[in-house]
Amino acid sequence: MTQPGTALVIGGGIAGPVAAMALQKAGIQATVYEAHPRSAEGIGVFLTLAPNGIDALRTIDADGPALAAGFPTPRITLRSTTGKPLGTAPAGLPLADGTTSHTLKRADLYAAIHQQARARGVVVQHGKRLIDVQQTDTGVRARFADGSQATGAVLVGADGIRSRVRGLIDPGAPAPATSGWSTSAATPAACTWMASRVTTP
Ligand SMILES: Cc1cc2nc3c(=O)[nH]c(=O)nc-3n(C[C@H](O)[C@H](O)[C@H](O)COP(=O)(O)OP(=O)(O)OC[C@H]3O[C@@H](n4cnc5c(N)ncnc54)[C@H](O)[C@@H]3O)c2cc1C
Repeated sequence: MTQPGTALVIGGGIAGPVAAMALQKAGIQATVYEAHPRSAEGIGVFLTLAPNGIDALRTIDADGPALAAGFPTPRITLRSTTGKPLGTAPAGLPLADGTTSHTLKRADLYAAIHQQARARGVVVQHGKRLIDVQQTDTGVRARFADGSQATGAVLVGADGIRSRVRGLIDPGAPAPATSGWSTSAATPAACTWMASRVTTP
């Protein structure tokens, strides 16, 4: 029997715990199910949190630690591989109070979000790779690769770019594909990362 007012959130990266905190604020108890057996603390390089992302965190009172871990990035300059400046563009419109995009380590964002989720009583279960979902009379049943199951009134997919949830809802959905472009970014912390740019067709 599914408990009314419960949600299953699939994916314990960035969006999953944030969705669980937002659901909790709306009176819905959410549990996060993450495929990896361990936390991703310390993993990843830099990313930029745009003003709309900061605004979303602010809505659930979770923006403070993320902003504190980053530095303002109002503009982004693109350079060629020889270092020649190609152009500068604003990194999103600032919020009403002037807050701009912030660049921070993915690991610091992850730690800030997960710490807050934990403090609010959100449970993240590791080693739970979703493989299938069934709709029931009272909600939804999730099946995981370790043989376990969980039920809830609703299921939220926060399982990243190769989302299993998306594929289960719409088997015909286009899969992400690599465009062949790559980017590198240098930050004041002198950290460089390379990433393949991924696009959906
Ligand atoms: C370990 C890691 C490091 C990253 N580092 C960087 C970085 O340095 N710079 C950058 O720009 N972006 C990085 N990214 C991507 C970036 O975090 C996301 O693109 C962005 O933050 C969106 O977050 P998200 O929560 O939607 O997806 P993600 O952060 O990708 O999180 C999705 C989560 O869902 C889990 N998951 C996937 N499939 C299943 C399943 N079937 N069942 C249960 N759980 C599942 C994944 O293990 C992952 O933890 C990283 C992602 C990961 C997972």
